[in-house]
Amino acid sequence: MRIDVLTLFPEALEPVLASSIVGRAVESGIASIACTNFREFARDKHRTVDDRPFGGGPGMVLMCEPVFDALEHVEAGHEGQASTRVLLTPQGERLTQRVAQELSQEAWLVLLCGHYEGFDERIRTGIDAREISIGDYVLSGGESAALVLIDAIVRLLPGALGGESSAHDDSFTDGLLEYPQYTRPREFRGMAVPDVLLSGDHGSIEAWRREQRIERTLARRPDLMQDRRDEGRK
Ligand code: SAM
Repeated sequence: MRIDVLTLFPEALEPVLASSIVGRAVESGIASIACTNFREFARDKHRTVDDRPFGGGPGMVLMCEPVFDALEHVEAGHEGQASTRVLLTPQGERLTQRVAQELSQEAWLVLLCGHYEGFDERIRTGIDAREISIGDYVLSGGESAALVLIDAIVRLLPGALGGESSAHDDSFTDGLLEYPQYTRPREFRGMAVPDVLLSGDHGSIEAWRREQRIERTLARRPDLMQDRRDEGRK
């Protein structure tokens, strides 16, 4: 998968994209990720990318020209390929595991990060992008939202976690939360690992884990259980 990130602050993304699971996926060629700065496409000597809103009001708005020019420049480098554009905005569709799964099927994503008061509305209406929000709160910029989205997507790419099944039991993958996990020591400050996990009986372990997933989901996220029922799943 190829991911291009258009941003005013590539330096806020690059060190994170070079670390951990995403960094390893890039190193092994599972994903290739590049950041492009809108400011390189400013048209004046002050490298202006934002301006005051028409009609008045606080803050500055990202201008159309540098955003369209950056997007067209990035996409012109790969003619013949179709990109899926994603605009990061608190007003977009809420990011869920299902959305991450859908986006992980794409060959090429172009993510657009806003800043200041956000984008000129003609960017939103003119570029035919999927609009994604990472939650009902407002961040100062789209960079942290892009990092969240990239992490959620890249870990789903085949081989990214080092084992095909590693993401399989993760919370939300089939609408349930994950079961509790334990590692050594067997007992810590009086808290013991459940016997079943030490039994070596894979059938019982499997059954216990499933039970725990259902109990946890019912206790913490009954809305997810309702979604499963609505989808006709057991
Ligand atoms: N004035 C805008 C509004 O009220 O809808 C918010 C602009 S926000 C300060 C600046 C940028 O941060 C946005 O253009 C977007 O790219 C990003 N951003 C902020 N919150 C976000 C969220 N919850 N999800 C995704 N991106 C977000």
